[in-house]
Amino acid sequence: MITKNTSAPAVDATLRAWGLRLTRQRRIILEVVHATDAHPTAAFVYRRVRRRLPRVSLATVYRNLRRLAAEGFLAERADPSGVRFDGNTAPHDHFTCVACGRIYDVPTRATRGVRARIAVRSGFEVLNHRVEFYGRCGACRRQGGRSPVKGQRRS
Ligand SMILES: [Zn+2]
Ligand SMILES: [Zn+2]
Repeated sequence: MITKNTSAPAVDATLRAWGLRLTRQRRIILEVVHATDAHPTAAFVYRRVRRRLPRVSLATVYRNLRRLAAEGFLAERADPSGVRFDGNTAPHDHFTCVACGRIYDVPTRATRGVRARIAVRSGFEVLNHRVEFYGRCGACRRQGGRSPVKGQRRS
């Protein structure tokens, strides 16, 4: 399944195509995740959703994020900093900046040959793979210096 959910209209179209109806709460949660490419934590999503639904709880946001991920509307990734959610459900890899902690999408074509090589060398049938790149992002490189990983996350 390859879907490009990069904008709210695309999300709506996808939902309609799947014949699913979302509650307003779930729709807003989904919109918040799709509005950022920062691979947000549940806490980040909660802070944004609360602006529109002041009475929502973090537990409710978290539960809905997990469910949306299980239903394929979002991707979920386990990270040293906790569970993060990804509005980009198309296959792709990630680059994590060790200076600012930001996670960037990397097109899968950069690593497409890996599966074929493994299959040839090992005889495995590779169904899926995950590649993680680590380094310093362009913004951090431009700032020079080696800023340590900060505890708090972008918000
Ligand atoms: Zn950075
Ligand atoms: Zn991603």
